Amino acid sequence: MTRLIFARWYPYVLPLRSPLKTASHTWHERRGVVITLQDEDGAVGYGEAAPFLTTESWAETVAQVGTVLSQWVGRTLPDLAELPSWLVGCDHTPATRHGLELALLNLLAQRAEVSLAALVAGSEGTVASRVAVNRLVGGGTVAETLARVQQGFEEGDRCFKLKVGHDFAQDRQRVRGTRDWLGERGELRLDANGAWTLTEAIAHCAELSPWGIEYIEQPVATGEDLAEVRWRSAVPVAADELVTSLTALKSLLSWGAADIYVLKPMQLGGLLVAREAATEILKQGLSVVITTAIDGAIARHGAIHLAATLPAIHAHGLGTGSLLAEDLSYPCPQVHRGFIALEPSC
Ligand SMILES: [Mg+2]
Repeated sequence: MTRLIFARWYPYVLPLRSPLKTASHTWHERRGVVITLQDEDGAVGYGEAAPFLTTESWAETVAQVGTVLSQWVGRTLPDLAELPSWLVGCDHTPATRHGLELALLNLLAQRAEVSLAALVAGSEGTVASRVAVNRLVGGGTVAETLARVQQGFEEGDRCFKLKVGHDFAQDRQRVRGTRDWLGERGELRLDANGAWTLTEAIAHCAELSPWGIEYIEQPVATGEDLAEVRWRSAVPVAADELVTSLTALKSLLSWGAADIYVLKPMQLGGLLVAREAATEILKQGLSVVITTAIDGAIARHGAIHLAATLPAIHAHGLGTGSLLAEDLSYPCPQVHRGFIALEPSC
């Protein structure tokens, strides 16, 4: 195996197209680090570390990426089995771990002349040629919601995700209006981002269920409440914000908290741990949706390739590149008519 002879990183700031409000902060941009590795044969691998909604700060990411890379130069590249040993010490900085791991995976894939998906899937895994994605419709008025759904439908999208949780009377009209217009021609999923109390969630899901909801992400904020909604609601529920680590996932699985688990490789610490999480979930007969933390093109490319290694049960949340006003310069495949095709050269 060849040696790593060059490792560098640089910070980036990508403005969002519109500000993103979360419980604690309004985000106007995504900050991260691009990592470049090169071996002595000239193969190059790129990674991306972009902390978001985690305890890891951007300053920690920058400091740790620099420290780790300085220790890597001159070492013989690991194989896939040895790769985690290169990331010891990054367990509490998942975005850093993600970026470093992705750079190594991309380098190993290039050396092996296989796609990133094929490398991650391993010799016994399968890789789809494309993945289905949802259209993020977001919030807004009834008219705005319908206009976005209709535009998406005309552009070939068949799975729509509405944000709910702000005003239930309006949410009900938006859901009903969307289903009435869409009929049986597409899927409709909702995301409440943990906005409702347990009592509200049970009542609201009962009211919304006649309109054929594929699933609702986090109607409530805690795992215990999510499990309760799941057992008392006809609408399937998904865990998203609660899936912060493999340990958190195992607790949620043990409580029977959700039918579907939304996995963000950037939050979980890389593609391999996200695939391990997905395997645990699928083993229990449950489903996985891969999404990004509004990552740049390098991390999105990685998440798309991970999604291609998983069974196609639900559309993924990978069309997030359109949320960025600027992007990294990297060949990441785009959404076309509700799907992202893996390019043979990726
Ligand atoms: Mg969500």
